[in-house]
Amino acid sequence: MRSHLLNDLTAEDYRRSVTEGVERVAAKLATTERPFTGVTADTLAPRIEQIDLDRPLHDTTAALDELEEVYLRDAVYFHHPRYLAHLNCPVVIPAVLGEAVLSAVNSSLDTWDQSAGGTLIERRLVDWTAARIGLGLSADGVFTSGGTQSNLQALLLAREEAKTDSLDRLRVFASEASHFSVRKSAKLLGLSADAVVSIPVDHDRRMQTVALAHELERCRRDGLVPMAVVATGGTTDFGSIDPLPEIAELCRQYGVWMHVDAAYGCGLLASVKYRDRIDGIERADSVTVDYHKSFFQPVSSSAVLVRDGAVLRHATYHADYLNPRRMVHERIPNQVDKSLQTTRRFDALKLWMTLRVMGADGIGSLFDEVCDLADEGWRLLAADPRFDVVVRPSLSTLVFRYIPAAVTAPAEIDRANLHARKALFASGDAVVAGTKVGGRHYLKFTLLNPETTADDIAAVLDLIAGHAEQYLGESVDRAS
Ligand SMILES: *Cc1c(COP(=O)(O)O)cnc(C)c1O
Repeated sequence: MRSHLLNDLTAEDYRRSVTEGVERVAAKLATTERPFTGVTADTLAPRIEQIDLDRPLHDTTAALDELEEVYLRDAVYFHHPRYLAHLNCPVVIPAVLGEAVLSAVNSSLDTWDQSAGGTLIERRLVDWTAARIGLGLSADGVFTSGGTQSNLQALLLAREEAKTDSLDRLRVFASEASHFSVRKSAKLLGLSADAVVSIPVDHDRRMQTVALAHELERCRRDGLVPMAVVATGGTTDFGSIDPLPEIAELCRQYGVWMHVDAAYGCGLLASVKYRDRIDGIERADSVTVDYHKSFFQPVSSSAVLVRDGAVLRHATYHADYLNPRRMVHERIPNQVDKSLQTTRRFDALKLWMTLRVMGADGIGSLFDEVCDLADEGWRLLAADPRFDVVVRPSLSTLVFRYIPAAVTAPAEIDRANLHARKALFASGDAVVAGTKVGGRHYLKFTLLNPETTADDIAAVLDLIAGHAEQYLGESVDRAS
């Protein structure tokens, strides 16, 4: 029977199998006409259900043929210029190459004796990122599975540094537009149910620092302990960037840990044109970056950085079989000492290959392009009477909604926008996201594909208006 283990004897089989898979994906990417086929879960589920997992095909080509039916044909393709929905990017080729290498070699970055050079490469990239942020010479950090984990780890460190025995009294301040992982983390960290104080945002969806100052003062007056302020460097919904210098100043005054969640806005760290939009990030105690959002990296690739590397000790545990304490004295670099994970992917290799092939400017220019595109989209929307657009973008997100010419009940406008999003998804012509603003349904473009053009945006807006008008027309018919 054929061996499926990857080793010296099967190198040729490996080459053939992987090449066959690569050929399929390459052909797929070249021929997808729409970002999605519009398939429903009800249609797809039986196809996946009827496969007998206890009867293998014993054949790579047959398995790939089957994969076409159950996955590849109907996947949602982020490389398509009319995929405009969530914070997903098309990926750059050097990173995909890195991914192929890292999974074949299968290093685990928990200890030096499972990774060697991999550990040093990750460390270089942590230092590189910290230097881009401007965190200073004592900075350190570690790669994580994503922004959610980075935020959790940052808040764990902040909790430990807050040095109090009563978790009940700790408070975390984050804007109402911050990511829900802040509240999830507070729960996981054993804080009280009302630990996260929601700070209102201004018209541009940036944290109101006057309100933050007020809440910090109240916290102190009430005998509570301010544990951290989470400033968002690019909110998920609007791409808005909290006023980092003012927040840093308040954190200094009140002696509070400043965390910057730059999961989305970290692309500005490589930007050629817009780096100044994230100025103030260098004053953070900890920073979350998601390379898999604005560095065009495959999922997952993310990191948490800290100003003072020594605080990472709060995540350090020793095991005799893995990273005994003596190794610290022997100066053996074990990344597990800094991580919430144990076995951990060498995701850093993707960023390494990207920087070595394209350079930071290459990535930054791509992000600049989508920021410029968002601004163009904003101008289109602002000039179009069919739409109401919420804020001028600081990054690459547009939140807007269709508004009919005739006076229409607000709930009906909500339904028209919801319908347009669903109808568009079902058609597969484009994929857009949705959110709520002031309790009303809005639509959202998250632009992360430099191949998307202003014409694509205009065309998708026409499709949306068409679906919404059709819905309203039909609902008039229903009423009469
Ligand atoms: C996406 C996002 C996160 C969560 O990151 P994941 O990589 O999805 O876990 C956290 N914060 C912000 C602002 C985000 O946009």
